[in-house]
Amino acid sequence: MRIVKSASLMQKIALEHIKNGDEIGLVPTMGALHDGHASLIARSEKNDDITIVSIFVNPTQFGPKEDYLKYPRTVKEDLEICKENHVDYVFMPSVNDMFPAEHKTFIEVKILQDILCGKFRQDHFRGVVTVVAKLFNISCADRSYFGMKDFQQLKIVERMVKDLNFKIKIIPCPIIREKSGLAISSRNSYLSAKEKKSSENISRILREASEDFKTKNLSFVKRSALNKLKKIPGSKIDYAEIVNFSDLSFADKNTEKAVFAVAIWIGKTRLIDNFVMLKQTQNI
Ligand code: AMP
Repeated sequence: MRIVKSASLMQKIALEHIKNGDEIGLVPTMGALHDGHASLIARSEKNDDITIVSIFVNPTQFGPKEDYLKYPRTVKEDLEICKENHVDYVFMPSVNDMFPAEHKTFIEVKILQDILCGKFRQDHFRGVVTVVAKLFNISCADRSYFGMKDFQQLKIVERMVKDLNFKIKIIPCPIIREKSGLAISSRNSYLSAKEKKSSENISRILREASEDFKTKNLSFVKRSALNKLKKIPGSKIDYAEIVNFSDLSFADKNTEKAVFAVAIWIGKTRLIDNFVMLKQTQNI
């Protein structure tokens, strides 16, 4: 496993691999790696000749009042996890290499960037898609792996890839959860034991909503879930929305495949989660 810190060197190495006929998989992360990230790496290991994991806490996707400075940074443990998972290259650029002072270009994905999390995190997705586009170009990857945990991010990246004719293939990967159902997240480390117990209710409520969705009408499903979410101790809901799986537009009575997406504060920690919901007649 090789650690590469410079974007130009990473691109040079990737181009050499392509010349040799290798297919490259990219797993973009912000580090503080966990089993969710490991599942993405495992998918790449299976599909690709070469797996690149990028670790970069991207300042352009954090708002001025967000947790950029206190975001967990666990480089030593991350490198162990990458090694154990047979990663070929860990790309760990500096902020200055990715976003030097003269950097001027940002990508926007209209509408999709302004709903759900975008309503509460201004400029977040503009930062995300810009860094993702840079990572695609630097890694020259054939495939890139994204967790459905960040469902809106996945949809926005898919849209950008289509709109800007990137030839990379986006591979969506299922949410990895703890036994309790809590979606694994680097930010879970902020939670106290009591807050963690509270957080475990989120996935239970979404699972119950997905059961209701099979047979009950949309307003019942939403109302019932909202009532339960509001009762979680220490919670404050940013949003809880049922949207169409395909394009994140609001679901209606004709929606057969939906996603119930939520962002909820538990104390000082903002958690996101979602569940795919199907009408009785659909198969996943
Ligand atoms: P992050 O480091 O949080 O930016 O996440 C990097 C990638 O890992 C993103 O594609 C996330 O969606 C994915 N990811 C994070 N948590 C999970 C999880 N619990 N299950 C599956 N994928 C995840």
